[in-house]
Amino acid sequence: MAYSFHCACIECNYEFSSSQGGGFTWYDYYCDQCGTATTFPRRAPRPNRLGVKPPFVLRSRERAAISAEDITRFNEEELHEILNNPTLWTKWGDAWDDFEQEAMLKLKGACNCGGEWRSPSEVRDEQQERGNKPHWLTRCPNCRSKQIKYSLSKVITD
Ligand SMILES: [Zn+2]
Ligand SMILES: [Zn+2]
Repeated sequence: MAYSFHCACIECNYEFSSSQGGGFTWYDYYCDQCGTATTFPRRAPRPNRLGVKPPFVLRSRERAAISAEDITRFNEEELHEILNNPTLWTKWGDAWDDFEQEAMLKLKGACNCGGEWRSPSEVRDEQQERGNKPHWLTRCPNCRSKQIKYSLSKVITD
């Protein structure tokens, strides 16, 4: 699920909206210093290692699970290509391995301000996960303050 909040900065009164939860094909990441948003592909564009178990009528599409050594791993060049081509991002596909996600973070480089890209889901927060409040990396785009008033304006269901 994705959420949109109407926010107002307590420090400078700037009003803005903040959407959270990413989209079908991407995750949102945010700079931990300035709050700038960026995106990473949600799924790896390769067959799902868990296989495919369609309903009976579609059984010709069934695929067995893929063993660890048979998973197509992307090299750095391919990861770079994927990262820079959102047309390759898919809602389906496979899970990323941790080392692939780390490699993509490295390829993306630091934010212009020098800060690091962090994921909202790094911090487990029930209120955040339920969409009751903006994630912990949210900042005012005007003055970068984290002192924010907010109200939920929209819920976008998958
Ligand atoms: Zn930054
Ligand atoms: Zn502000």
